[in-house]
Amino acid sequence: MASIEMRHIVKQYGDGYPAVNDVSLDIADGEFMILVGPSGCGKSTLLRMIVGLEDITSGDMIIGGKRVNDLAPRDRNLSMVFQNYALYPHMTVYENIAFPLRLAKMPDDEVRRRVTEASDVLELKEHLERKPANLSGGQRQRVAMGRAIVRQAEAFLFDEPLSNLDAKLRGQMRTEISRLQRRLGITTVYVTHDQTEAMTLGDRVCVLRKGKIQQVASPRELYEQP
Ligand code: ADP
Ligand code: ADP
Repeated sequence: MASIEMRHIVKQYGDGYPAVNDVSLDIADGEFMILVGPSGCGKSTLLRMIVGLEDITSGDMIIGGKRVNDLAPRDRNLSMVFQNYALYPHMTVYENIAFPLRLAKMPDDEVRRRVTEASDVLELKEHLERKPANLSGGQRQRVAMGRAIVRQAEAFLFDEPLSNLDAKLRGQMRTEISRLQRRLGITTVYVTHDQTEAMTLGDRVCVLRKGKIQQVASPRELYEQP
């Protein structure tokens, strides 16, 4: 687990207005931070700079006390959950969850231990031998989360993970993500458009507008003010 500190982060694509414009934000170890704001305000770009999928134009990204600007994604030890679950259709649930550990050449018994533990937490134990095509949307989303948690990463990053699900499933997954995050106590950054998610999931909400931070507040301060 790790804190995430952003110091004067700027992202300039081409010569237009900066997509992220001097963002400084401290996310505490174990904190659940929500990023909200209108389309195009820089949420995804910021998330991608945390995980290392996008270069930082200027400023410092500090994770667990260490400056990571020049570290490749694989060396940052973070887990990102995308909205399109990106599961491998030809692999079973077990192999999908185990995949990052196989990549890391982890011994089989340790892989088995971690996949069992993750599938326990996510209530996927009965489905380990199935293929993604034979799962419900919610189960697929849980497999994607399983793959994120087996890596025992320093932090979770979510980019609108529930936006393709129907309302009922969204409600269930909200509860699930919240439960999981509390249980693991893992630092989480979560991008959403959905006010209910922002209100119910986060410890704090960061509102972005045109690449800048407009406000950082608790959900209560933000949404329940008179
Ligand atoms: P959000 O996630 O809040 O919708 P983005 O981070 O996707 O916002 O985009 C922020 C701004 O950066 C937008 O103006 C968008 O058009 C621009 N942008 C995003 N990705 C690229 C890219 N790869 N090349 C050029 N401009 C980009
Ligand atoms: P390469 O640069 O070797 O072709 P990639 O850029 O696809 O490979 O990814 C290399 C490593 O970066 C992956 O093994 C993974 O650990 C990490 N990585 C890539 N994308 C993400 C992501 N969205 N979240 C977390 N880690 C990632």
